[in-house]
Amino acid sequence: MKSNTSLQFGKYLLDDQKLRKLVSKNTYKKYIQAKTYHRHLSPKTLNTMLKAIMEWAISEGATHYLHIFYPLFRPSAEKGVALLSINKGSVTSLVPPSELMRSEVDASSFPNGNTCQPHKAKGYAVWDIASNPYIACDENGEKMLYLPSKFYSSDGICLDEKTPLQKATIAVDKEARRVLYRLGGKARKVICNVGAEQEFFLIKKALFEKRYDLKTIGRAVIENAVTTLPTLSNHYLSRPNPTIANFFNHLSHDLWEKGIASKIRHSEVSPSQYEITTIFGEANKIFEQNNEIVHSIKTIANKFGLEPLFHEKPFCNINGSGKHINLSFSTNKLNLLDPISTPFHIFYVFFTAFIVAVDTHKDLILNSVTYYSNALRLGQKEAPPSHITIHIGDALKNLLLDFNPQTPYKKPIIYQNDDRNRTSPLAFVKNRFEFRMAGSSQSIAFPLTALYVAFSNTLKLIADESEKEKGNRLTSVLTVSKELFEKHKRIIYNDDNYSKEKQAHQSVELMSNCLCPSQIKRTTNPDVLSDIELHLRQIEQEKKLYSDLLADCVVTDKMLNKFVYPSLFRTLDFYRNRTQTFIGDDICKSIMSAINNLSRLQAELADITNDTTSLETHEKTKWLLRFAPRKIEELNMEYEKIKDFIPREFETFPSCDEILKPL
Ligand code: ADP
Ligand code: MG
Repeated sequence: MKSNTSLQFGKYLLDDQKLRKLVSKNTYKKYIQAKTYHRHLSPKTLNTMLKAIMEWAISEGATHYLHIFYPLFRPSAEKGVALLSINKGSVTSLVPPSELMRSEVDASSFPNGNTCQPHKAKGYAVWDIASNPYIACDENGEKMLYLPSKFYSSDGICLDEKTPLQKATIAVDKEARRVLYRLGGKARKVICNVGAEQEFFLIKKALFEKRYDLKTIGRAVIENAVTTLPTLSNHYLSRPNPTIANFFNHLSHDLWEKGIASKIRHSEVSPSQYEITTIFGEANKIFEQNNEIVHSIKTIANKFGLEPLFHEKPFCNINGSGKHINLSFSTNKLNLLDPISTPFHIFYVFFTAFIVAVDTHKDLILNSVTYYSNALRLGQKEAPPSHITIHIGDALKNLLLDFNPQTPYKKPIIYQNDDRNRTSPLAFVKNRFEFRMAGSSQSIAFPLTALYVAFSNTLKLIADESEKEKGNRLTSVLTVSKELFEKHKRIIYNDDNYSKEKQAHQSVELMSNCLCPSQIKRTTNPDVLSDIELHLRQIEQEKKLYSDLLADCVVTDKMLNKFVYPSLFRTLDFYRNRTQTFIGDDICKSIMSAINNLSRLQAELADITNDTTSLETHEKTKWLLRFAPRKIEELNMEYEKIKDFIPREFETFPSCDEILKPL
């Protein structure tokens, strides 16, 4: 492995610089224009581009091409097709460009909100010309050309996470330029920048394989706590052992080859938990890269006998995993959220617009991070709470409060950023907002879409209102901004969010929020998500919530029958043969009582799920939400009481202590 990253970086990414060398000047210019300003390419130019892509991939040794697309609430999906055609009896690696552009797929097999029934199932994955193709190698080194694609039904209904995100960035660009114009500025494009931090656990694959619950749903449902020892808090930024360090070195090289700027990796707070961060870039690109990072982590971990866990709360009493999403907005000259380089009046308008946006679109933003496994994490152990506030620090808050639209301060300010507020779900950090509510397993696309819809709607309001005002353009836009900020500054909260947390039932509250779609509909933008697209999203969100809840019930039941009872009965026999000893009898009584209680609670859990059979999805979900998580918790508490009596030889699955012990 070479040590010089510059030799490896982007080797398998067909970036614009490489593309420029593969096509004529004119074709390249048209491609860049179309990509930057979201225009269509003529069929002739498109064919030329596709041929160039195909020839590059073949020269690099690719044997297949894949349209990779991003269905709703699912990790990416891909369809592999060989770079192989038979033309008049002779075999060639070239395929018709139209095939490389578009694959037909069965849309009824993906979440589609009942818009694509099996008898009307046609859907398409179509290469998005704004996303650069790349090559990824599978575990055996086989090379595949990846074409990041949009996914929609044959009726043109968008069924993916990528399309709305792209439309939302276009909305931000459009409205931000309108506001900039009112401020006397000008930009050809306002770019949405994102930096994503990915947290995950890395455990021994051999132990993972022995835990049915971890294997099936990614979290431990029974025996899901680690013994609390002082050494538990020693993991943060500790030096990774050689296997983990080696894993990360391979991961970095793999990502660099694909042109993904992996930059920071470190041990996280929980034992066996890690984080990887890449250098920030344009939102649509970073969202795809984050998905690719997750794939690379899985592939490379397996080479080292490791298994990554992306579930938000795999173990109950230690920190879970999230994705921190850092956001800023820039022209080719300015980061609009950087107070020390951007004229203060411009910073003021964009910065306060973001705050107003979050306060006016709270439901939509919360909805974007609401799903079962993330709700288990939010509000617990160092995870942000499940209600939204924004930390900006007192120094900046005071400067904003003092801002006078009649006599605006127009220079960048000299300002020291306040403390790190780790309790805040959304914190301003130096020159960007850091949104900490997204979960580790979800795509960052929809949280970003929600935030951009909110931001662009607010910028639109500011531009519309200030256009109505007569007189000075600048004064009008500053006055409108100030009025809005005064109304919505209540969302700023610089103190400790944990202290005002109502821990109990908040995850239930959060999930109930996703069952109230009407509040969300009011605040979306039909140019980003049509009514039908929003509606089908909500149907699928609820279906997912229901199936995730049900999966926990089913897995808990199986864990009891297949693993817990067998080990308890063997333990019981073991102590029954020792009732003469001074403790044997007491232990037998405790185990008997636990077995009885566990089977009673198990029957109650079965009743809860059986009760839902005749209900509609909406009612079923509400029912499970109300009763199932609590019942599983009770089962756990019962098991905790006696688990330490089980002799090592009778354990039927590894404990969390063993799984999380340093490798
Ligand atoms: P933390 O200290 O919060 O853990 P990290 O250094 O791990 O932060 O990650 C910060 C992320 O923010 C990185 O992905 C980085 O590239 C990104 N970032 C830095 N500046 C900006 C910016 N202006 N806009 C968006 N993201 C940014
Ligand atoms: Mg970090």
